[in-house]
Amino acid sequence: MIGAMQDFELRVSTMIDHAERQSGEREIVSRYADGSLVRGSWSQVARDARRLANALARLGIGTGDRVATLAMNHGRHLAAWYGVMGMGAVMHTINPRLFDDQLAYIANHAQDRVLIYDAAFAPLVERLKPQWPTIEHYVCFDGEGEGSFDALIAQESDQFVWPAGSERDPCMLCYTSGTTGNPKGVLYSHRAIVLHAMTAVTPACLAIATDSVVLPIVPMFHVCAWGIPFATAISGSKLVLSASNDAAVLCDLMHQEGVTHSAGVPTVWLAMIAHVDAGAPPPPLEHVVIGGSAASRAMMSRLMDMGMNVSHLWGMTELTPIGSVTKRDPGFDALPREAQLDLLSKQGATPYGVEMRIADEEGNTLPRDGVTSGRLQVRGPWVIDRYFGDERARAVDANGWFDTGDVAIIYPDGIMQITDRAKDVIKSGGEWISSVDLENEAIGCSGVAEAAAIGLPHPKWDERPVLVVVRKEGANVSEADIRAHLSSRIAKWWMPDRIFFVDHLPHTATGKLSKLTLREQFRDVRLDEPAGASA
Ligand code: AMP
Repeated sequence: MIGAMQDFELRVSTMIDHAERQSGEREIVSRYADGSLVRGSWSQVARDARRLANALARLGIGTGDRVATLAMNHGRHLAAWYGVMGMGAVMHTINPRLFDDQLAYIANHAQDRVLIYDAAFAPLVERLKPQWPTIEHYVCFDGEGEGSFDALIAQESDQFVWPAGSERDPCMLCYTSGTTGNPKGVLYSHRAIVLHAMTAVTPACLAIATDSVVLPIVPMFHVCAWGIPFATAISGSKLVLSASNDAAVLCDLMHQEGVTHSAGVPTVWLAMIAHVDAGAPPPPLEHVVIGGSAASRAMMSRLMDMGMNVSHLWGMTELTPIGSVTKRDPGFDALPREAQLDLLSKQGATPYGVEMRIADEEGNTLPRDGVTSGRLQVRGPWVIDRYFGDERARAVDANGWFDTGDVAIIYPDGIMQITDRAKDVIKSGGEWISSVDLENEAIGCSGVAEAAAIGLPHPKWDERPVLVVVRKEGANVSEADIRAHLSSRIAKWWMPDRIFFVDHLPHTATGKLSKLTLREQFRDVRLDEPAGASA
């Protein structure tokens, strides 16, 4: 016997159809790189998406073909998403901040046939064209002349019947900005994207509804802008898109458009706080989601002072990306600020749809006791099974667990706390030292702007921690000051063997601290020798 309900395929096209039908007049506001503000709506995005589908079909693009974008957040990019995915092709969002050899590699690996790009990236496109033999058509999102997006769709009908197909068909492709080896492609299915969107709107995640005004600061080229362009279509929210990530531009836009919800990585919130500190009125936000790297207590506390509800999100490209979000149990609002920050600084609990566990090196499940740490693993309908182009090898174990590469603790109430990246954990004398904990304590020392802890080889202990510190402008904090600060806060054997001061720390293309580069830079340091003997 099978269930007697309709076999309704969960396709991305159903989301844009819903937005047009239910919230057609709800605004999509775009602020382009040249400062111009364009006001559209969900129905206009839907019409442009169908026009683009007709244009792409005319160019010979069909089911499963890859159409790439190199673009910031704006309404034309949104229409391109829905047009490409709606017609059954695959939208490949390329991160323009990647290095040239990675950009060359991924467009070839994806076998992109069309590239639609922002004029701002024209020099990059010109430079890489000779290395992109599979790309047949180049279209520019800006302008109205020949070769522009508007010209491409101008003569097309706004009628297009979305093809029926399986919800398991692919619709979107993103490459992880791995710090080692070539980037790896994550090929999302329609089903993963739709289920993820249905969860993303809930109070357990982004908490958005029809009356929300949402401005995703997270770029559309980084893990589908955390699914916000899909979530807002099913909630029928007003969407505000900015091609600029400048804090002043964003803050003005938030005031002007009455933005209630926003999401971004810690760096953008730090910039926003600095902008407010310089005299700007705090943005009118009600709900802020911070993720992509760990959000600091100080940052979250400042945003709460401005009247915002703050949530901390953990996710990754392989998870479409939401894996866990701050869990607000009854009584959260009545807790003292410090207790709230204790909860907020953890990475939260899984929404329905994601299962999570910690495991040892042999794959045995470890207890959720709030003490034991282990490899963080996840499974669920929007978790990767295989990397794109590597279909024979599954990226998961026999029970479907995907190893995230993060190390975490899970508490009895299901709340998870990241303690490290597996490859960054410092293994000293058979015990683990959390580089994240060490960094957080070091950042608490006055005069320290940024700190990174890495493990370097040691003949006796296997590895020992080394701390690399960037001083705050004008500060002259010394090694002795940092050691004095750390001594009351960490176990004695966690004390870094060396502390180095640098002007800046290396970051990856997505703004994450590049420990790999840092380990390279300090490769020649010999920890068995007295300080000063090397590096
Ligand atoms: P990406 O696929 O580029 O989004 O990177 C995913 C990785 O970012 C995760 O595996 C984590 O190591 C890190 N990450 C994401 N969100 C958080 C968070 N809230 N706290 C700490 N690390 C995070």
